[in-house]
Amino acid sequence: MRILVVLLCALSIFACKQEAKVEAQFMDKKQNDSTKPLEVTPIPLQKVMGKFSPKDDHSFVLVEALYADREGMFLHREAYEAFKKMWAHAQRDDVKLIIRSATRNFDYQRGIWERKWTGATKVSGQDLSQTIPNPKDRALKILNYSSMPGTSRHHWGTDIDFNAFENSYFESGEGLKVYTWLLENATSYGFFRPYTEIGEARPHGYQEEKWHWSYEPLASQYMLTAKAKLQDDLITGFSGAETATEIEVVDKYVKGVSTFDEQK
Ligand SMILES: [Zn+2]
Repeated sequence: MRILVVLLCALSIFACKQEAKVEAQFMDKKQNDSTKPLEVTPIPLQKVMGKFSPKDDHSFVLVEALYADREGMFLHREAYEAFKKMWAHAQRDDVKLIIRSATRNFDYQRGIWERKWTGATKVSGQDLSQTIPNPKDRALKILNYSSMPGTSRHHWGTDIDFNAFENSYFESGEGLKVYTWLLENATSYGFFRPYTEIGEARPHGYQEEKWHWSYEPLASQYMLTAKAKLQDDLITGFSGAETATEIEVVDKYVKGVSTFDEQK
């Protein structure tokens, strides 16, 4: 009997050790898996170029009215979740973030661009179709603040314009409070400013836009596809598109941005 007990004890210790060994191996595997880079499916070029409808795309969600100045805007779900957390933190600090513009697809951007191109929308008080007949010069003038269709970060659902479309708004009073808060807190929610001042660090691209913030974890995925596949000769389908190659719009305006790492 005593022999049997000893034998059973020995067997249970062995079983226990075996179990611990298997567990340790499993943990090892888990740790190894978590250190591997996540495999991300590349974003299709058509989506990078805004050739889709956000309302028919399950990865996009409608922005709730309390966050925006109007209804009917969309954001990529991941960017929206991060934005809502940031908004709640801002609210606790008595800072009001208001979405003025979010996702704009190719067709929407074409509307903005062509109204400026034809003079239906004035730019700096001018009808550009009259004051700048040269196509390249006219495109460059519009490109100070507006993207060519197919090249806008607003196609991605990752970028948001906050509160006002003038830098001066963010330089005093309520606007300065909003901007200072964003500078201090936005990067901890994944947001950064792609359009900082033009200068040595960012020689090309749009003028500074203090209102435009981008959700980096996802925007960087769109940028990977843009860098790999977007080319000037693919930018077509609107008035003035023939100037894209001469202007080097992809190199200068799509890639001519500040980075998250410079700002965090
Ligand atoms: Zn913007």
